[in-house]
Amino acid sequence: MIEALRCTCEATGCDRELGESQFMLTMETSAGTRHAYECECGAVTVTVTR
Ligand SMILES: [Zn+2]
Repeated sequence: MIEALRCTCEATGCDRELGESQFMLTMETSAGTRHAYECECGAVTVTVTR
């Protein structure tokens, strides 16, 4: 199950909204759950939720 998270691309000058269509993968770490998104510009943004 993918949480409905909203974030924006971290690439300079991009600021596209990232959603489920850009979602790549989830990584469980001791610091929390990380979600990776690949933007249309090619940049990968990783978010952390606890
Ligand atoms: Zn981008």
